[in-house]
Amino acid sequence: MTLTIGVIGGGQLARMMIPAAIALGIEIRVLAEAEGAPASLAATAVGDYRDAETVVRFARDVDVVTFDHEHVPQSVLAALEDAGAIVRPGPAALLFAQDKLSMRERLDAAGIPVPEWARVSTPADLDDFVSAHGGRAVVKTATGGYDGKGVRVVASSADVADWFGDEPLLVEELVVFRRELAQLVARRPSGQIVAWPLVESVQRDGVCAEVIAPAPRSSGRLAEATESVARRIAELLDVTGVLAVELFETDDDRILVNELAMRPHNTGHWTIDGSTTSQFEQHVRATLDLPLGATDAHAGWAVMVNVLGGHPDGALVDSYPVTFADQPSVKVHNYGKDPRPGRKVGHVTATGDDLDDVVWRARAAAFLLGSEAVDRPTS
Ligand code: ADP
Repeated sequence: MTLTIGVIGGGQLARMMIPAAIALGIEIRVLAEAEGAPASLAATAVGDYRDAETVVRFARDVDVVTFDHEHVPQSVLAALEDAGAIVRPGPAALLFAQDKLSMRERLDAAGIPVPEWARVSTPADLDDFVSAHGGRAVVKTATGGYDGKGVRVVASSADVADWFGDEPLLVEELVVFRRELAQLVARRPSGQIVAWPLVESVQRDGVCAEVIAPAPRSSGRLAEATESVARRIAELLDVTGVLAVELFETDDDRILVNELAMRPHNTGHWTIDGSTTSQFEQHVRATLDLPLGATDAHAGWAVMVNVLGGHPDGALVDSYPVTFADQPSVKVHNYGKDPRPGRKVGHVTATGDDLDDVVWRARAAAFLLGSEAVDRPTS
């Protein structure tokens, strides 16, 4: 008997599930938006994830359905469940990764620390919030945002005049944070939860640029606190699969939950080369309700740097001779996408016991691969 996982969405996250599934003899099928998607290395159907009939048909031939992104509408998820498909994470959990207002409301009600926030439907309500919070705030569209799209720092409602419509907006205090952290856990339906080490993520223009694992200067106390918050959220929301909890560490040592993702996450890419069980293998195991793998790190440090953009006049592979020769110990991951400014086309991971050296090697490799977010490291 072959176990088969159906992944909705054909991006790099689905792509990186494929080698993990191959190693375990598990089949992956992908519902991609277009021909030639990064995950089309697996058996691929092309279709619209917003169309219930297409998605239900795709689910017929798989044992469990999971996701590469969180944009599948709730109505389509309901149709899937009505048709008897096993969906992990389930629609009730996924809602909190799709709708930032529902997420804020649910976590706040459960006493989980989040930035001060409000639901606003009118410019006047937004201006009241802004003036009560020092004249600046962060406004977010409740749904549809990613990589900083749908997030704006505002001084008044005029800055988001184009966003007022039928949907209410989320407004939050502008958090003064020391750094951004991410805590990844995985949970299987029968309840087992495992956690990876807490990581620090460096964002540039709303896009993840670098991840350091474990987060430097993370005392046992901090790591314990973030792990316990992530475990609580996974249980509270009945999450299955990988859950990424994005956090702010404030100047006054508070930990606030910013965002949730219920799928493998950019801040967990380091686990492919740096942990006994990668987040992709863990997601595969968890969606099939198999015992989860160990999450310990292979080395003192792992640093992941995204390759953003790429050399405009050539494919990533064109840079392999020089990159591989210069950085033989750095692991390169290529998503098979054409270079385009700002696009995540790959990532690199370096591991080792000297953080300075590990950061340097990872940045050097990303630079040689043409990442626009990395300057050539000089020391
Ligand atoms: P996305 O869904 O696009 O990932 P996020 O809510 O994670 O949106 O916000 C993107 C980035 O914007 C965050 O990583 C953080 O750097 C910044 N940001 C978001 N909310 C706040 C806030 N309340 N205060 C300060 N910065 C914020």
